[in-house]
Amino acid sequence: VSLQLDLSEIVSREGMRSAVYVDQAGVEDPDLNFASPLRGALTFVNGGDLISIEGSLATELQAECSRCLTPVRLPLSVAIDERYPIPDILNPTRKPAPDEDFDPTIRSVVYLEKGRPILDLDELMRQLLVAELPIRILCSEECRGLCPGCGALLNEQPCTCSAPVTDGSQAVLRDLLEPRSAADRGA
Ligand SMILES: [Zn+2]
Ligand SMILES: [Zn+2]
Repeated sequence: VSLQLDLSEIVSREGMRSAVYVDQAGVEDPDLNFASPLRGALTFVNGGDLISIEGSLATELQAECSRCLTPVRLPLSVAIDERYPIPDILNPTRKPAPDEDFDPTIRSVVYLEKGRPILDLDELMRQLLVAELPIRILCSEECRGLCPGCGALLNEQPCTCSAPVTDGSQAVLRDLLEPRSAADRGA
């Protein structure tokens, strides 16, 4: 069951505040594999011409290191600070003017049901969490990854390749330098 919030009361009462607590297994997304529940608190405030949504969410994801593929637990927390103009909430599918500074988030999370504006809070949380994902997930900054030649997990075992293939340009440089230094030693 996903969280769908009827906003019709708060949009009609200036100054109204409303708190929503989140504690659920997660939200549906192929990139989000929840290892801990998704928890948080959000405060909705009617500020006259807009609704502000402030709060925070925290969870832990199960991911894998992008270098060595080891499973990694990734703590993720999101600060929420959204402001939605009330006219946009009441008419989420309206077409923006050509030069308008328009926030397309609203139409992706608010829809009308029998004329009542409903916020798809799961979809909003999904978007915020995905935006917070690091570009690269690493088990540690020093992770040495997998040898592209033999597949050895270099954090734990030595490479078993006969010739190192980790970096082509350095290998070539070494080939150029070594005969010369051997010749220097011989001279
Ligand atoms: Zn790693
Ligand atoms: Zn190797």
